[in-house]
Amino acid sequence: MSVAKAYAATSSTSGLSATSIDRREPGPEDVEISIDFCGLCHSDVHATRGEWGGTAYPLVPGHEIVGRVSRVGSAVTRFSAGDTVGVGCMVDSCRECDSCLEGLEQYCENGMTGTYGAVDKRHDGGITQGGYASSIVVDQHYVLRVPANLDPAAVAPLLCAGITTYSPLRYLDIEEGDAVGVVGLGGLGHMAVKLAKAMGAHVTVFTTSAGKAEDAHALGADAVVVSSSEDQMAGARQTLNAIIDTVAAKHDINDYLRTLKRDGALIQLGLPPEDLPPINPGMLIRKRLAYGGSLIGGIEETQEMLDFCADHDVVSSIEIVSADQLNDAYERMVAGDVKYRFVLDASTI
Ligand code: NAP
Ligand code: ZN
Ligand code: ZN
Repeated sequence: MSVAKAYAATSSTSGLSATSIDRREPGPEDVEISIDFCGLCHSDVHATRGEWGGTAYPLVPGHEIVGRVSRVGSAVTRFSAGDTVGVGCMVDSCRECDSCLEGLEQYCENGMTGTYGAVDKRHDGGITQGGYASSIVVDQHYVLRVPANLDPAAVAPLLCAGITTYSPLRYLDIEEGDAVGVVGLGGLGHMAVKLAKAMGAHVTVFTTSAGKAEDAHALGADAVVVSSSEDQMAGARQTLNAIIDTVAAKHDINDYLRTLKRDGALIQLGLPPEDLPPINPGMLIRKRLAYGGSLIGGIEETQEMLDFCADHDVVSSIEIVSADQLNDAYERMVAGDVKYRFVLDASTI
């Protein structure tokens, strides 16, 4: 057992404060990581504030982790001390069900083990604690190689925001010439823009924040639609093949279904605490549209995404924060004031 410094929420209203947690002694398959950076995902806000229900406190959030290997177990072959590595949203799954065997561990039929807030069935049965911490111990199967040519701090958000947007873009076979809409320009949204552009798509950003238009273009968007403008929304009708919806709050999907062409698809990624307004079935039927969802991505696909980012020189646009700025950063994220992912400098914990 070792002790890690960490930041935890102790209740839904406590905010985050300094604490310490135990990390298990690395077993044969384990990699011990000294954490350098951890991205701040809106899911961390939902979870620490108990917005989805069922949060076990105290909770150390964080599932966009980059660090260096400090120790490895005797059976670890793919990593050695000093390697720069990443950990995303999962640290375990059953490894036996069809989803696990297909490399889709995020859909494990026996329930994947989230990096924080999940029961660690394989180990001590305790609750997993995440990356707002000085170290973590993770089974080698759930550890990713970080490409050497990318800035480690700006890689951290790829471990959730990157893979969560890459996976549906791949699932939809987005390629050169496709027209992709991205709803919400936050952590997930800005990665969706960069990744869809790198795949050759024509990208339209839908934002509630008129002030983000210039940034959206700088991030690679070909067009920007301010969603509160009826004229601009009308101008976007029937223009898109696919939409990636990253909005973290209640909003009307029907407005976006209108912008899809025949056979288009809207993939829901944002997970607001409340239900969304009902979908008009005619909207789907009249253009043979598909409405679906997607959860992060599998381990193999996450490595593929990191390698794709290395090849296309894609990283997150980040603002580094120290541990004492975490609570302010959450407030700014909820207000939509983030350009475009906060990353915790773990040396300040
Ligand atoms: P974020 O950085 O806060 O971005 C969300 C964006 O949504 C905002 O920047 C804003 O963009 C837009 N938005 C519009 N109306 C909003 C409102 N009333 N309140 C808040 N945002 C509003 O969040 P994120 O980290 O990208 O996460 C987005 C959502 O995805 C969260 O619900 C998160 O839990 C979920 N998520 C899902 C998965 C998955 O596997 N499916 C993985 C990670 C996260 P504009 O200013 O451009 O309108
Ligand atoms: Zn996340
Ligand atoms: Zn499984």
